Formats: sequence, structure tokens, C-alpha cells
Amino acid sequence: MKEFRGISASPGIVISKAFLYNEENFTVPFYKITEDEVDREIERYNRAILSASEELQELKKSITREYSQEEARFLDSHILMLHDPMFKEQVFDRLKSDLSNVEWIVQGVIQALVDKLNASGDIYMQERTMDMNDVAKRIINNLMMRKRISLSDLKEEVIVVTPDLLPSDTLLMNKRMVKGILMDVGGRTSHTAILARSFGIPAILGLRTITRDLSSGDTIIMDGQSGMVILDPDKETLARYRRKQTEYLKRESKLYNLKNFPSETQDGKEILLKANIEVPDELDSVNAFNAAGIGLFRSEFLVMQTGLEMDEELQYSVYKKVIEGMNGSPVTIRTLDVGGDKLINEIAQKNEKNPLLGWRAIRFCLDRIDVFKVQLRAILRASVAGPVRIMFPMISGIEELEKATGILNEVKRDLEAEGIAFSSDIPVGCMIEVPSAAMTSDILARKADFFSIGTNDLIQYTIAVDRGNEKISDLYEPFHPAVLRLIRMVVENGHGAGIPVGMCGEMAGDPMMTVILLGLGLDELSMSAFGIPEIKRIIRSTTILEAEELLGTLMDMKSIRDIDRYVRNWMEERFEFITG
Ligand code: PEP
Ligand code: MG
Repeated sequence: MKEFRGISASPGIVISKAFLYNEENFTVPFYKITEDEVDREIERYNRAILSASEELQELKKSITREYSQEEARFLDSHILMLHDPMFKEQVFDRLKSDLSNVEWIVQGVIQALVDKLNASGDIYMQERTMDMNDVAKRIINNLMMRKRISLSDLKEEVIVVTPDLLPSDTLLMNKRMVKGILMDVGGRTSHTAILARSFGIPAILGLRTITRDLSSGDTIIMDGQSGMVILDPDKETLARYRRKQTEYLKRESKLYNLKNFPSETQDGKEILLKANIEVPDELDSVNAFNAAGIGLFRSEFLVMQTGLEMDEELQYSVYKKVIEGMNGSPVTIRTLDVGGDKLINEIAQKNEKNPLLGWRAIRFCLDRIDVFKVQLRAILRASVAGPVRIMFPMISGIEELEKATGILNEVKRDLEAEGIAFSSDIPVGCMIEVPSAAMTSDILARKADFFSIGTNDLIQYTIAVDRGNEKISDLYEPFHPAVLRLIRMVVENGHGAGIPVGMCGEMAGDPMMTVILLGLGLDELSMSAFGIPEIKRIIRSTTILEAEELLGTLMDMKSIRDIDRYVRNWMEERFEFITG
């Protein structure tokens, strides 16, 4: 029996087998062949293309089933590439001239194409290189009769153990079979953590060497709450965790029963509890937990799957589906927040020294107005289907907010001229996630219909600590007095201008923070749908008066340590059910 401790990223207790997912161990064999063996290699190649093609069709079916036909569209280009006659011709020609094994040739031909596209300077072409590498890997895996390890193909329940996961891995994995996620890297607000919470999958990140410490098939216990992983547990430990698991599930179902009760403090203040979503697939849980709306739709996840060429029709159909799925509760669509930690090809290829401080979010959209306008048109058109709010990410000052709003107005005029309907009542909000925006929130408040505080980035930029870097995760502190002061300033300025102030960063779903946020005066909290019941229970057991008293005491404290200790004691004394 051996224990490891990481960063608790999504709660839940799992006892299951480990499944090591490590795409990095991909090596291509090389050997010489004789002229007589060329036909055999051609035969192998043709068979591999056939089975790769079957695999892709299967994958397409399952994505269509889980998401929608539109979201499976990116696979069409993979299927086309697989059958491209020019590609085949190049492979066969080189096979005959080089006399090397066909895996090696495929790799070489693809590499040459990738190099050519990268050198072309054409952004659209460059975006194709990731797809090409993916297709090459699929062909080579089939040539080597190596089943491509794909998280979407899992057939039994496992805990996925991996160095890192791409958002697309997390989106596409078979969520019925992935019972938990353990990762070498990552922190509480990294995107794998956010997605894991959205899907209700327990996760522990920042385990540093877990992929070397565990092997596929090992029996492990993971406790997403405490960040504890136990390898080869003895009988007694197993029995203890089985009991803990039962208690946890009982508690969850008790909390779930609160779904039809209002989210109101004991002295009658209603706090709207909304859900954050990344893909429309999450609507079921949003409705199951009775969220008061969607407080943050991270629309960039669509482009991370399909590429920037995603057209207006596709976006329109996704937004419409989400709006209709919310049956009249408002949906807040955040415009594309690509870049930083949410890299897409076009930005990744710029090789920025500081992507987190670079060409991202609203900066990207104000530069790529073509992309921005397509998204705004799609949102406006979808607004006919139900209440929508538009929100701009990473605003750092009034100029950006004015420019973004100006473009939105231009798009509205275009639609009017074309006779295309859209709602005349779409609140336009500003995310407050950069310290300069918080500091000038009095100015921004005059030009925005609402504020939503993005604490994941606000903490990152205020304390200058990379939110995804496990090495410095102990510096990432929501209790930092600077963070609390900035939030207070934003709420006061927002309310001073008569606009509502919400929060959609992970802090909004952290039970340890709830009473503080009530004291700070937040009107709306948006979080993973699974987190709503616990936060609701705390709200329902508190008065605004005592929340303000608690906040008053904390605001006089000087150190994170003092605030942290005081809050934990205060919360644990009052709420025996708390899990934070
Ligand atoms: C945030 O920064 O708090 C936020 C909600 O946005 P994201 O996590 O997508 O950057
Ligand atoms: Mg953010």
C-alpha cells in the first residue's frame, strides 16, 4: 500500500483500476525492406487505411450521439485525408524509392506536408497540421496493429492516469467509463479541473509523478475531496473507503433534494445560483440541479474542437440548442476566450513568450473582427429563441469594452439591414478578471449592463501566479486580502451604478467562500451544476447580517493564514456538512 497526495480538483470517492493514458510514448519503428517486400507493405497500408476509416466512422457516430452532428464534423476532414489519392501516391512512390517500412514512410510524408504548411504562412493551412498528425498517428497505429488508445473507446470503468489531458480528450472521453482522473500536472482552476467538475467526474491533479508510480490495472482508491490517492490498498483501508463512499453518496443525494427549494438566505435575500457550461451536453445536469440559468457558457470550447473556421450556422445551432434547453432561464454566452491556457492552433503557432499575457480573449477578437462578427451574428440570431446575455472576457479597460460593444452594434445594424430578427433586449456584460478592470470598475460599470467576476484569472493576475502550475499552487490564494479587496471594490462600483454583479470563477462554487461572498454582496454565483446544492444549503442556513459581520472581521486581517484559519473554523462550527 502506498499513498500520494495531489491537488483536489473535483470531489468524489472512487475505487477502481488505473488506466494509464500516455500519448507521448508514441514511437515509429524503422527498418529496411527489399524490393520483393514492397507489395506486402502496400497491402498492409491498404488494410490499415480501411480499419482507420472504420474507426473514424465509429468515432463520428459516437460524437454525433453524445453531442451533435455538427460537432462531429471535424472528423470529416480526417476521413478525407485518409483517402486522399495524392497522399497515397506519395506514400507508394517513396516506398519504392526508399525501401523502408511503410510506417516510416507515412510518418515522413506527413512530416514533409506539415513542414510545407507551416512554412506557407497561411493560417488556415497551418491549422490543418494538427489534424494531419492525428491522421498519421491513426494510420501508424493501425499498421502496427496497435489499438489506438482513445478515451472515447473505453469499455470498462477505470480511473484515467495521465501526464496531462487536452480539453478535447476530456470532452471526447467516454464519461460513463471514466470514473476518475489523476494527472501529473494541473491545478484547481486548470481547464481539466473545470471540465471534470462540469461532468461530475472526481479528479486529483498536480500529482507530479503519478504516471510513473502507477501502472494500468493497479487497484487504486482516490478521494477527490482530500486529494489522496492510495495504491494497492489493504483490506482495512478498502473497507474504510467503501464506508466513506457510501456516506458521500448519501450526503450528495440529500443535498440533491434541495433542488426545488429557493436559494435564499434566512433573512430573505435571493442569490441566483447558475451553472457554467462548456458544451451543450451539460444541459441535462444543469436542469437536473435546477440552475437559475447559465452564468457562463465558455463558447471557446466549440472552436477548440472544430477550429476557427466554425461557421455561423453551426454556432447558431449550438447557441439555439442551449437557449431552448434552458426553457426561459437566461443564458450568458461569453464571446470566444481563446488563447492563454485555452490554446488553438492559430495562437499556438505564434509561440508567444507569455501567452497568458498575450493575444487572447477580447484582444484576439478585436484583432480578428471577422471571427468575432461571425460569433456575434450567431448569438444575436439565436436570441430569438429565449433570453440571452452577452459577456466579453478579459476586458482590461474601457477602450476594449467600447470597441467590443461598437462591433456588436455594427453587427446588429447589419442584421437589421438584412431583415434578420434578433432580440432587442440583450444585456451586455463585462467580465472582471484583470486587476486593471477591477480598479476601473466604476468607469466600466457605466457602459455595462452587468459584471461577472472571473476569479480564476483575477487571482492569477493579481498575485502573479499561473493558475495551472502545480509547483506554485500554494500561492494561488482566494483568501489573499488583495483579492478580497478587489472583489469588494467591483461589487461596490457595480451596485453604485445600479448593475448586478455576479461571479463565475471557481471561487463561486467553493463552499468555504460562500458566506464571504454573501457578505461581499454578490447577486449571482455561477459554478459547475454539481456544486449548486451544497452552496444552496449554505445560503439557506445563513443571514446576510452574519455574513457581513464575518466579512468585517476578515477585512481587518492582514495575512492569508489568519483569514484562512478564521474562515475554516467559522464555517466548520456552523456547517457540519461542509466539504471544502
Ligand atoms: C475566470 O477566469 O474566472 C473564468 C471564469 O474564466 P476561465 O476560467 O474560462 O478563464
Ligand atoms: Mg478567465
